[in-house]
Amino acid sequence: MYIAENKSVVRTLYLILFSLTWELSFSQSDPFITVRNMMVEEQIESRGITNEELLRAMKKVPRHLFVPEECIKSAYGDFPLPIGYDQTISQPYIVAYMTDLIKPGSNKKVLEIGTGSGYQAAILAELCDSVFSIEIIPELAIESSDRLKKLNYRNVFIKCGDGYNGWTEHSPFDCIVVTAAAENIPQPLIDQLADKGRLVIPIGGPYSVQDMILITKKHGEIEKRILAPVRFVPFKRL
Ligand code: SAH
Repeated sequence: MYIAENKSVVRTLYLILFSLTWELSFSQSDPFITVRNMMVEEQIESRGITNEELLRAMKKVPRHLFVPEECIKSAYGDFPLPIGYDQTISQPYIVAYMTDLIKPGSNKKVLEIGTGSGYQAAILAELCDSVFSIEIIPELAIESSDRLKKLNYRNVFIKCGDGYNGWTEHSPFDCIVVTAAAENIPQPLIDQLADKGRLVIPIGGPYSVQDMILITKKHGEIEKRILAPVRFVPFKRL
């Protein structure tokens, strides 16, 4: 009896020690955990985003690995950052806001136009079944694809090209996220949206204030809602 009790005490102590070491090794390998949690609380939850899964994904994805080395210290700031080639990684809140709007889900297939750093694609990959992402700048398409592979995202598929035409072979998509501002909503994207699907896109002129638009499709009918003023880099054409 005495031995049995002793054994269970030893086992409990071992478990406590194991989990402490485990947590310690994780916090040491990612020195940004605290600042990332603060980013989510102060910039995202405080602005009204309540989707628990989305908040968890934003706390998990290491944003500092998606920015150039010279920007690592500002990776969790409340602003967009340059990623080269005149492009930017969106502000964390905007990534969360757009992701929330499309109502992600583990059974959903998503199309993203404008892979950029791959950060938004990683957030979507945490929440959805698969993410198809198109980037027009070859160097960014290669860099983001390598980055996402290294981070073990196996449900993100990236191709280089003009996202205006969507990705017919994999359509229809439950959700479409466009992360560059277009003058008009590309018709191929509307055509490739599934029934009950949701599409978010900033619409407006380059380098001016644009409108975030939400398109929903129900029984073939399109509903368009203008949501908020935003600022995005321009949607390019090949
Ligand atoms: N979602 C990105 C933000 C990228 S900024 C991130 O999380 O980092 C917008 C991106 O859209 C840029 O990389 C730009 O090159 C790309 N882009 C602009 N026009 C495009 C088009 N027609 N097709 C595909 N990508 C486009």
